[in-house]
Amino acid sequence: MRLESEIYDADRAQMLPDKSLSQVISAHSNPASFLTGHPRFMNQLSCGMEVVSLAGEWLTAAANTNMFTFEIAPVTMRHMREIIGYKQGDSILAPGGSISNLYAALVARHKMFPEYKKKGLRALPGELCMFTSLHSHYSMMGTAAAMGLGTDNCIEVPVDEKGRMIPAELDRLVQESKAKGKIPFLVCATAGTTVMGAFDPLHAIADVCEKHKLWFHVDAAWGGGVLLSKNQRHKMAGVERSDSLTWNPHKLMGVLLQCSTVHFKEDGLLISCNQMCADYLFQQDKPYDVNYDTGDKVIQCGRHNDIFKLWLMWRSKGDEGFEKHIDHLFEMTEYLVRRMKQHPDKFEFLNDEPECTNVCFWYVPHRLRSMKPGPERHKLLGEIQPILKGRMMTAGTLMIGYQPLDHHPNFFRNIISSQAVRREDIDFMLEELDRLGYDL
Ligand SMILES: *Cc1c(COP(=O)(O)O)cnc(C)c1O
Repeated sequence: MRLESEIYDADRAQMLPDKSLSQVISAHSNPASFLTGHPRFMNQLSCGMEVVSLAGEWLTAAANTNMFTFEIAPVTMRHMREIIGYKQGDSILAPGGSISNLYAALVARHKMFPEYKKKGLRALPGELCMFTSLHSHYSMMGTAAAMGLGTDNCIEVPVDEKGRMIPAELDRLVQESKAKGKIPFLVCATAGTTVMGAFDPLHAIADVCEKHKLWFHVDAAWGGGVLLSKNQRHKMAGVERSDSLTWNPHKLMGVLLQCSTVHFKEDGLLISCNQMCADYLFQQDKPYDVNYDTGDKVIQCGRHNDIFKLWLMWRSKGDEGFEKHIDHLFEMTEYLVRRMKQHPDKFEFLNDEPECTNVCFWYVPHRLRSMKPGPERHKLLGEIQPILKGRMMTAGTLMIGYQPLDHHPNFFRNIISSQAVRREDIDFMLEELDRLGYDL
Protein backbone atom coordinates (compact mmCIF):
# COMPACT_ATOMS: atom_id res chain seq x y z
CA MET A 1 0.00 0.00 0.00
CA ARG A 2 2.87 2.32 0.82
CA LEU A 3 4.42 1.55 -2.49
CA GLU A 4 1.15 2.37 -4.17
CA SER A 5 0.87 5.84 -2.68
CA GLU A 6 4.49 6.51 -3.44
CA ILE A 7 3.82 5.62 -7.03
CA TYR A 8 0.86 7.99 -6.98
CA ASP A 9 2.93 10.85 -5.76
CA ALA A 10 5.75 10.12 -8.12
CA ASP A 11 3.16 10.08 -10.90
CA ARG A 12 1.82 13.38 -9.84
CA ALA A 13 5.18 15.03 -9.53
CA GLN A 14 5.92 13.95 -13.05
CA MET A 15 2.56 14.90 -14.46
CA LEU A 16 2.04 18.14 -12.63
CA PRO A 17 5.20 20.16 -12.70
CA ASP A 18 4.87 23.87 -12.08
CA LYS A 19 3.99 24.38 -15.68
CA SER A 20 0.74 24.59 -17.52
CA LEU A 21 -0.25 21.76 -19.80
CA SER A 22 0.44 23.95 -22.83
CA GLN A 23 3.98 24.61 -21.65
CA VAL A 24 4.53 20.92 -21.20
CA ILE A 25 3.10 20.25 -24.63
CA SER A 26 5.13 22.96 -26.31
CA ALA A 27 8.18 21.71 -24.49
CA HIS A 28 7.56 18.48 -26.36
CA SER A 29 7.17 20.63 -29.51
CA ASN A 30 4.18 18.63 -30.61
CA PRO A 31 1.10 20.71 -29.99
CA ALA A 32 -1.21 18.11 -31.47
CA SER A 33 -0.38 15.49 -28.87
CA PHE A 34 -2.15 15.67 -25.56
CA LEU A 35 -0.94 14.25 -22.31
CA THR A 36 -3.62 11.74 -21.53
CA GLY A 37 -1.94 10.94 -18.20
CA HIS A 38 -2.34 14.49 -16.93
CA PRO A 39 -4.85 14.63 -14.05
CA ARG A 40 -6.66 17.47 -15.81
CA PHE A 41 -7.18 15.48 -18.99
CA MET A 42 -10.80 14.38 -18.56
CA ASN A 43 -11.62 13.98 -22.21
CA GLN A 44 -11.76 10.24 -22.69
CA LEU A 45 -12.81 6.97 -21.14
CA SER A 46 -9.22 5.79 -21.21
CA CYS A 47 -6.93 8.19 -19.44
CA GLY A 48 -4.37 8.10 -16.65
CA MET A 49 -0.85 6.77 -16.60
CA GLU A 50 -0.37 3.69 -14.47
CA VAL A 51 3.35 3.09 -14.12
CA VAL A 52 3.05 -0.66 -13.55
CA SER A 53 0.98 -1.02 -16.67
CA LEU A 54 3.54 1.04 -18.55
CA ALA A 55 6.33 -1.24 -17.33
CA GLY A 56 4.29 -4.20 -18.57
CA GLU A 57 3.80 -2.62 -21.97
CA TRP A 58 7.52 -1.85 -22.31
CA LEU A 59 8.48 -5.35 -21.39
CA THR A 60 5.92 -6.76 -23.80
CA ALA A 61 7.34 -4.66 -26.62
CA ALA A 62 10.89 -5.64 -25.71
CA ALA A 63 10.07 -9.36 -25.66
CA ASN A 64 8.02 -9.01 -28.87
CA THR A 65 6.28 -12.33 -28.30
CA ASN A 66 3.14 -13.28 -30.08
CA MET A 67 -0.08 -13.83 -28.21
CA PHE A 68 -1.39 -17.08 -29.57
CA THR A 69 0.24 -19.40 -27.12
CA PHE A 70 0.57 -17.60 -23.84
CA GLU A 71 0.15 -18.91 -20.36
CA ILE A 72 -0.84 -16.10 -18.02
CA ALA A 73 -3.91 -15.15 -20.02
CA PRO A 74 -6.04 -18.12 -18.86
CA VAL A 75 -5.32 -17.39 -15.17
CA THR A 76 -6.27 -13.72 -15.38
CA MET A 77 -9.29 -14.44 -17.57
CA ARG A 78 -10.57 -17.09 -15.14
CA HIS A 79 -10.30 -14.60 -12.31
CA MET A 80 -12.33 -12.06 -14.28
CA ARG A 81 -15.02 -14.67 -15.02
CA GLU A 82 -15.23 -15.49 -11.30
CA ILE A 83 -15.77 -11.80 -10.59
CA ILE A 84 -18.53 -11.67 -13.21
CA GLY A 85 -20.11 -14.77 -11.69
CA TYR A 86 -19.58 -17.27 -14.53
CA LYS A 87 -18.80 -20.65 -13.01
CA GLN A 88 -16.87 -21.92 -16.01
CA GLY A 89 -16.79 -20.47 -19.49
CA ASP A 90 -14.18 -19.06 -21.78
CA SER A 91 -12.62 -15.67 -22.57
CA ILE A 92 -10.29 -13.94 -24.98
CA LEU A 93 -8.54 -10.63 -25.36
CA ALA A 94 -9.61 -8.65 -28.40
CA PRO A 95 -8.28 -5.52 -30.07
CA GLY A 96 -10.83 -3.23 -28.39
CA GLY A 97 -14.36 -3.34 -27.05
CA SER A 98 -15.86 -2.96 -30.51
CA ILE A 99 -14.26 -6.19 -31.64
CA SER A 100 -15.17 -7.83 -28.33
CA ASN A 101 -18.82 -7.02 -29.05
CA LEU A 102 -18.42 -8.47 -32.53
CA TYR A 103 -17.06 -11.71 -31.03
CA ALA A 104 -20.07 -11.97 -28.73
CA ALA A 105 -22.50 -11.58 -31.63
CA LEU A 106 -20.57 -14.07 -33.79
CA VAL A 107 -20.71 -16.65 -31.02
CA ALA A 108 -24.41 -15.97 -30.36
CA ARG A 109 -25.22 -16.59 -34.02
CA HIS A 110 -23.03 -19.68 -34.04
CA LYS A 111 -24.88 -21.06 -31.02
CA MET A 112 -28.22 -20.63 -32.75
CA PHE A 113 -27.10 -21.55 -36.29
CA PRO A 114 -23.93 -23.70 -36.13
CA GLU A 115 -24.19 -24.38 -39.87
CA TYR A 116 -23.59 -20.71 -40.66
CA LYS A 117 -19.82 -21.20 -40.33
CA LYS A 118 -19.77 -23.56 -43.30
CA LYS A 119 -22.77 -22.58 -45.38
CA GLY A 120 -23.00 -18.86 -44.70
CA LEU A 121 -26.29 -17.14 -45.44
CA ARG A 122 -27.78 -20.34 -46.86
CA ALA A 123 -27.90 -21.69 -43.30
CA LEU A 124 -30.32 -18.99 -42.15
CA PRO A 125 -34.07 -19.47 -42.37
CA GLY A 126 -34.67 -15.71 -42.49
CA GLU A 127 -33.47 -12.26 -41.51
CA LEU A 128 -31.68 -12.11 -38.15
CA CYS A 129 -32.07 -9.08 -35.91
CA MET A 130 -30.55 -7.87 -32.66
CA PHE A 131 -31.46 -5.29 -30.01
CA THR A 132 -29.46 -2.66 -28.18
CA SER A 133 -30.36 0.62 -26.51
CA LEU A 134 -30.53 3.96 -28.26
CA HIS A 135 -27.56 5.08 -26.14
CA SER A 136 -25.43 1.99 -26.69
CA HIS A 137 -22.01 2.17 -28.30
CA TYR A 138 -22.00 2.55 -32.09
CA SER A 139 -19.97 -0.65 -32.40
CA MET A 140 -23.22 -2.63 -32.11
CA MET A 141 -24.39 -1.02 -35.37
CA GLY A 142 -20.97 -1.81 -36.78
CA THR A 143 -21.36 -5.42 -35.67
CA ALA A 144 -24.71 -5.69 -37.50
CA ALA A 145 -23.11 -4.24 -40.62
CA ALA A 146 -19.99 -6.43 -40.46
CA MET A 147 -21.99 -9.62 -39.86
CA GLY A 148 -24.22 -9.07 -42.86
CA LEU A 149 -27.38 -8.37 -40.85
CA GLY A 150 -27.56 -4.80 -42.04
CA THR A 151 -27.88 -1.82 -39.70
CA ASP A 152 -31.71 -1.92 -40.11
CA ASN A 153 -31.55 -5.16 -38.18
CA CYS A 154 -29.80 -3.60 -35.19
CA ILE A 155 -32.93 -2.36 -33.48
CA GLU A 156 -32.55 0.50 -31.01
CA VAL A 157 -34.59 0.27 -27.82
CA PRO A 158 -35.75 3.55 -26.21
CA VAL A 159 -34.15 4.72 -22.96
CA ASP A 160 -35.51 6.45 -19.85
CA GLU A 161 -34.47 9.93 -18.72
CA LYS A 162 -31.26 8.57 -17.20
CA GLY A 163 -30.28 6.81 -20.40
CA ARG A 164 -31.20 3.24 -19.33
CA MET A 165 -32.88 0.78 -21.66
CA ILE A 166 -36.62 0.35 -20.99
CA PRO A 167 -37.19 -3.43 -20.68
CA ALA A 168 -40.92 -3.21 -21.55
CA GLU A 169 -39.96 -1.46 -24.81
CA LEU A 170 -37.45 -4.22 -25.51
CA ASP A 171 -40.15 -6.84 -25.06
CA ARG A 172 -42.51 -4.91 -27.33
CA LEU A 173 -39.89 -4.50 -30.08
CA VAL A 174 -38.90 -8.19 -29.95
CA GLN A 175 -42.55 -9.19 -30.44
CA GLU A 176 -42.96 -6.64 -33.20
CA SER A 177 -39.94 -7.97 -35.10
CA LYS A 178 -41.19 -11.55 -34.76
CA ALA A 179 -44.55 -10.47 -36.13
CA LYS A 180 -42.71 -9.07 -39.14
CA GLY A 181 -41.11 -12.47 -39.71
CA LYS A 182 -37.63 -11.60 -38.44
CA ILE A 183 -35.52 -13.83 -36.23
CA PRO A 184 -34.31 -12.07 -33.06
CA PHE A 185 -31.13 -13.70 -31.75
CA LEU A 186 -29.30 -11.26 -29.46
CA VAL A 187 -29.90 -8.51 -26.94
CA CYS A 188 -27.07 -6.24 -25.87
CA ALA A 189 -27.41 -4.40 -22.55
CA THR A 190 -24.93 -1.63 -21.83
CA ALA A 191 -23.29 -1.37 -18.42
CA GLY A 192 -21.94 2.17 -18.46
CA THR A 193 -23.10 3.96 -21.59
CA THR A 194 -20.46 5.95 -23.38
CA VAL A 195 -21.98 9.41 -22.94
CA MET A 196 -24.19 9.34 -19.83
CA GLY A 197 -22.59 6.37 -18.06
CA ALA A 198 -25.98 4.69 -17.54
CA PHE A 199 -26.35 1.06 -16.46
CA ASP A 200 -29.17 -0.82 -18.19
CA PRO A 201 -31.30 -2.90 -15.74
CA LEU A 202 -29.75 -6.34 -16.23
CA HIS A 203 -32.26 -8.49 -14.31
CA ALA A 204 -35.25 -7.12 -16.19
CA ILE A 205 -33.47 -7.50 -19.54
CA ALA A 206 -32.42 -11.05 -18.63
CA ASP A 207 -36.11 -11.83 -18.03
CA VAL A 208 -37.00 -10.66 -21.54
CA CYS A 209 -34.13 -12.71 -23.00
CA GLU A 210 -35.27 -15.83 -21.16
CA LYS A 211 -38.85 -15.31 -22.26
CA HIS A 212 -37.86 -15.10 -25.95
CA LYS A 213 -34.80 -17.42 -25.74
CA LEU A 214 -32.34 -14.76 -26.87
CA TRP A 215 -28.61 -14.51 -26.30
CA PHE A 216 -27.93 -11.95 -23.55
CA HIS A 217 -24.77 -9.92 -24.08
CA VAL A 218 -23.58 -7.18 -21.71
CA ASP A 219 -21.38 -4.43 -23.12
CA ALA A 220 -19.49 -3.43 -19.97
CA ALA A 221 -16.53 -2.04 -21.92
CA TRP A 222 -16.75 1.15 -19.90
CA GLY A 223 -18.52 0.17 -16.67
CA GLY A 224 -17.06 -3.33 -16.11
CA GLY A 225 -14.63 -1.99 -13.51
CA VAL A 226 -17.50 -1.47 -11.03
CA LEU A 227 -17.53 -5.25 -10.54
CA LEU A 228 -14.32 -4.81 -8.53
CA SER A 229 -15.94 -2.58 -5.93
CA LYS A 230 -18.36 -3.74 -3.24
CA ASN A 231 -19.81 -0.23 -3.18
CA GLN A 232 -20.47 -0.06 -6.92
CA ARG A 233 -21.15 -3.63 -7.97
CA HIS A 234 -24.90 -3.46 -7.34
CA LYS A 235 -25.21 -1.40 -10.53
CA MET A 236 -24.59 -4.60 -12.45
CA ALA A 237 -26.88 -6.84 -10.41
CA GLY A 238 -27.98 -9.74 -12.59
CA VAL A 239 -24.76 -9.77 -14.64
CA GLU A 240 -24.26 -13.48 -13.88
CA ARG A 241 -27.39 -14.20 -15.92
CA SER A 242 -25.74 -12.94 -19.13
CA ASP A 243 -24.26 -15.24 -21.78
CA SER A 244 -21.35 -12.98 -22.65
CA LEU A 245 -19.73 -9.78 -21.48
CA THR A 246 -17.31 -7.21 -22.89
CA TRP A 247 -14.99 -5.58 -20.34
CA ASN A 248 -12.20 -3.13 -21.22
CA PRO A 249 -9.50 -2.96 -18.53
CA HIS A 250 -8.09 -0.03 -20.52
CA LYS A 251 -10.96 2.13 -19.30
CA LEU A 252 -12.00 2.30 -15.62
CA MET A 253 -9.20 -0.02 -14.50
CA GLY A 254 -6.56 2.26 -15.97
CA VAL A 255 -4.57 -0.33 -17.94
CA LEU A 256 -2.74 1.21 -20.88
CA LEU A 257 -4.34 1.00 -24.31
CA GLN A 258 -5.19 -1.43 -25.43
CA CYS A 259 -6.60 -4.11 -23.21
CA SER A 260 -10.06 -5.45 -23.91
CA THR A 261 -11.63 -8.73 -22.89
CA VAL A 262 -14.74 -10.68 -23.81
CA HIS A 263 -16.11 -13.48 -21.62
CA PHE A 264 -18.53 -16.33 -22.30
CA LYS A 265 -20.55 -18.34 -19.84
CA GLU A 266 -20.45 -21.50 -21.95
CA ASP A 267 -17.11 -23.08 -22.71
CA GLY A 268 -16.36 -24.48 -26.15
CA LEU A 269 -18.41 -22.08 -28.25
CA LEU A 270 -15.62 -19.67 -29.06
CA ILE A 271 -13.37 -22.37 -30.41
CA SER A 272 -16.14 -24.10 -32.30
CA CYS A 273 -17.16 -20.78 -33.88
CA ASN A 274 -13.72 -19.59 -34.94
CA GLN A 275 -11.40 -22.59 -35.17
CA MET A 276 -9.77 -23.20 -38.54
CA CYS A 277 -7.16 -25.74 -37.32
CA ALA A 278 -4.08 -24.37 -39.05
CA ASP A 279 -1.66 -27.28 -38.76
CA TYR A 280 1.46 -25.15 -38.73
CA LEU A 281 0.45 -23.41 -35.48
CA PHE A 282 -1.86 -25.55 -33.47
CA GLN A 283 -0.37 -29.03 -33.42
CA GLN A 284 -2.21 -31.17 -30.91
CA ASP A 285 0.94 -33.15 -29.97
CA LYS A 286 2.94 -30.26 -28.48
CA PRO A 287 5.01 -30.98 -25.37
CA TYR A 288 2.66 -28.94 -23.12
CA ASP A 289 -1.03 -28.53 -22.35
CA VAL A 290 -2.46 -27.26 -25.64
CA ASN A 291 -5.30 -25.59 -23.75
CA TYR A 292 -2.89 -22.69 -23.43
CA ASP A 293 -3.06 -22.24 -27.20
CA THR A 294 -5.82 -19.70 -27.39
CA GLY A 295 -4.97 -18.65 -30.94
CA ASP A 296 -7.60 -20.70 -32.75
CA LYS A 297 -10.43 -19.10 -30.80
CA VAL A 298 -9.91 -15.78 -32.52
CA ILE A 299 -10.27 -14.49 -36.06
CA GLN A 300 -6.79 -12.96 -35.99
CA CYS A 301 -3.54 -14.84 -36.40
CA GLY A 302 -0.64 -12.85 -34.93
CA ARG A 303 -1.71 -10.81 -31.94
CA HIS A 304 -0.20 -8.21 -29.68
CA ASN A 305 0.22 -9.41 -26.14
CA ASP A 306 -2.29 -7.33 -24.20
CA ILE A 307 -2.49 -9.50 -21.11
CA PHE A 308 0.92 -9.03 -19.55
CA LYS A 309 0.43 -5.44 -18.39
CA LEU A 310 -2.98 -6.32 -16.90
CA TRP A 311 -1.59 -9.36 -15.11
CA LEU A 312 1.34 -7.31 -13.78
CA MET A 313 -0.97 -4.55 -12.57
CA TRP A 314 -3.19 -7.10 -10.85
CA ARG A 315 -0.13 -8.64 -9.19
CA SER A 316 0.88 -5.20 -7.99
CA LYS A 317 -2.52 -3.92 -6.79
CA GLY A 318 -4.37 -7.10 -5.93
CA ASP A 319 -8.16 -7.19 -5.83
CA GLU A 320 -8.05 -4.86 -2.86
CA GLY A 321 -5.93 -2.28 -4.66
CA PHE A 322 -8.23 -2.35 -7.68
CA GLU A 323 -11.21 -1.85 -5.40
CA LYS A 324 -9.57 1.23 -3.92
CA HIS A 325 -8.73 2.40 -7.42
CA ILE A 326 -12.38 2.18 -8.52
CA ASP A 327 -13.68 3.70 -5.28
CA HIS A 328 -11.30 6.62 -5.69
CA LEU A 329 -12.72 7.41 -9.14
CA PHE A 330 -16.27 7.37 -7.78
CA GLU A 331 -15.34 9.46 -4.73
CA MET A 332 -13.82 12.08 -7.02
CA THR A 333 -16.95 12.03 -9.18
CA GLU A 334 -19.18 12.55 -6.12
CA TYR A 335 -16.98 15.43 -5.06
CA LEU A 336 -17.26 17.01 -8.51
CA VAL A 337 -21.05 16.74 -8.51
CA ARG A 338 -21.26 18.14 -4.98
CA ARG A 339 -19.04 21.10 -5.86
CA MET A 340 -20.99 21.85 -9.04
CA LYS A 341 -24.27 21.80 -7.12
CA GLN A 342 -22.88 24.60 -4.96
CA HIS A 343 -22.95 26.81 -8.10
CA PRO A 344 -26.30 26.17 -9.78
CA ASP A 345 -25.96 29.48 -11.63
CA LYS A 346 -22.79 28.30 -13.39
CA PHE A 347 -23.38 24.60 -13.98
CA GLU A 348 -26.48 22.81 -15.22
CA PHE A 349 -26.68 19.04 -15.23
CA LEU A 350 -28.05 16.73 -17.87
CA ASN A 351 -28.33 14.19 -15.06
CA ASP A 352 -27.38 15.22 -11.54
CA GLU A 353 -27.15 11.64 -10.26
CA PRO A 354 -24.57 10.06 -12.58
CA GLU A 355 -24.26 6.29 -12.29
CA CYS A 356 -20.69 6.11 -13.59
CA THR A 357 -17.91 8.70 -13.56
CA ASN A 358 -19.44 10.56 -16.51
CA VAL A 359 -20.67 13.98 -15.42
CA CYS A 360 -22.71 15.67 -18.16
CA PHE A 361 -23.28 19.38 -17.78
CA TRP A 362 -23.54 22.78 -19.43
CA TYR A 363 -21.35 25.63 -18.34
CA VAL A 364 -23.50 28.78 -18.12
CA PRO A 365 -21.67 32.03 -18.92
CA HIS A 366 -22.57 35.21 -17.06
CA ARG A 367 -24.95 36.70 -19.65
CA LEU A 368 -27.14 33.59 -19.71
CA ARG A 369 -27.43 33.24 -15.94
CA SER A 370 -30.35 35.66 -15.72
CA MET A 371 -31.99 34.66 -19.00
CA LYS A 372 -35.25 32.77 -18.61
CA PRO A 373 -35.11 29.06 -19.44
CA GLY A 374 -36.45 28.03 -22.82
CA PRO A 375 -35.45 26.86 -26.27
CA GLU A 376 -33.54 30.06 -27.12
CA ARG A 377 -31.34 29.83 -24.03
CA HIS A 378 -30.89 26.11 -24.62
CA LYS A 379 -29.71 26.75 -28.16
CA LEU A 380 -27.25 29.41 -27.01
CA LEU A 381 -25.86 27.06 -24.36
CA GLY A 382 -25.27 24.46 -27.06
CA GLU A 383 -23.34 26.98 -29.16
CA ILE A 384 -21.19 28.14 -26.27
CA GLN A 385 -19.76 24.80 -25.11
CA PRO A 386 -17.61 24.19 -28.24
CA ILE A 387 -16.21 27.74 -28.00
CA LEU A 388 -15.28 27.11 -24.39
CA LYS A 389 -13.62 23.84 -25.41
CA GLY A 390 -11.60 25.81 -27.98
CA ARG A 391 -10.45 28.20 -25.27
CA MET A 392 -9.54 25.27 -23.05
CA MET A 393 -7.36 23.78 -25.74
CA THR A 394 -5.64 27.08 -26.47
CA ALA A 395 -4.97 27.65 -22.78
CA GLY A 396 -3.81 24.03 -22.50
CA THR A 397 -4.94 23.76 -18.91
CA LEU A 398 -7.84 21.34 -19.18
CA MET A 399 -9.41 18.81 -21.54
CA ILE A 400 -13.10 17.91 -21.38
CA GLY A 401 -15.08 16.42 -24.25
CA TYR A 402 -18.45 17.65 -25.50
CA GLN A 403 -21.20 16.25 -27.70
CA PRO A 404 -24.93 16.58 -28.39
CA LEU A 405 -27.29 13.72 -27.45
CA ASP A 406 -30.84 13.05 -28.65
CA HIS A 407 -32.61 16.43 -28.45
CA HIS A 408 -29.97 17.95 -26.14
CA PRO A 409 -27.60 20.52 -27.66
CA ASN A 410 -23.84 20.26 -27.04
CA PHE A 411 -22.88 19.63 -23.43
CA PHE A 412 -19.67 18.69 -21.66
CA ARG A 413 -19.06 15.13 -20.54
CA ASN A 414 -16.41 15.05 -17.88
CA ILE A 415 -14.75 11.69 -17.31
CA ILE A 416 -12.80 10.72 -14.21
CA SER A 417 -10.85 7.64 -15.22
CA SER A 418 -7.40 8.50 -13.91
CA GLN A 419 -6.00 7.66 -10.50
CA ALA A 420 -4.07 10.90 -10.52
CA VAL A 421 -7.22 13.05 -10.17
CA ARG A 422 -7.41 14.81 -6.79
CA ARG A 423 -9.84 17.25 -5.22
CA GLU A 424 -7.53 20.11 -6.08
CA ASP A 425 -7.78 19.19 -9.77
CA ILE A 426 -11.56 19.34 -9.54
CA ASP A 427 -11.47 22.68 -7.73
CA PHE A 428 -9.10 23.93 -10.39
CA MET A 429 -11.34 22.66 -13.17
CA LEU A 430 -14.41 24.49 -11.90
CA GLU A 431 -12.49 27.73 -11.47
CA GLU A 432 -10.85 27.39 -14.84
CA LEU A 433 -14.17 26.81 -16.63
CA ASP A 434 -15.42 30.02 -15.10
CA ARG A 435 -12.23 31.91 -15.89
CA LEU A 436 -12.31 30.82 -19.53
CA GLY A 437 -16.06 30.97 -20.08
CA TYR A 438 -17.46 33.77 -17.93
CA ASP A 439 -17.67 36.35 -20.74
CA LEU A 440 -18.93 34.05 -23.51
C1 LIG B 1 -15.39 2.32 -25.39
C2 LIG B 1 -16.60 1.50 -25.58
C3 LIG B 1 -16.65 0.51 -26.57
C4 LIG B 1 -15.58 0.32 -27.59
O1 LIG B 1 -14.38 -0.04 -27.05
P1 LIG B 1 -13.04 0.17 -27.91
O2 LIG B 1 -12.01 -0.50 -27.09
O3 LIG B 1 -12.83 1.65 -28.01
O4 LIG B 1 -13.25 -0.45 -29.25
C5 LIG B 1 -17.77 -0.30 -26.64
N1 LIG B 1 -18.79 -0.12 -25.79
C6 LIG B 1 -18.79 0.84 -24.84
C7 LIG B 1 -19.96 0.97 -23.92
C8 LIG B 1 -17.69 1.69 -24.71
O5 LIG B 1 -17.70 2.66 -23.78
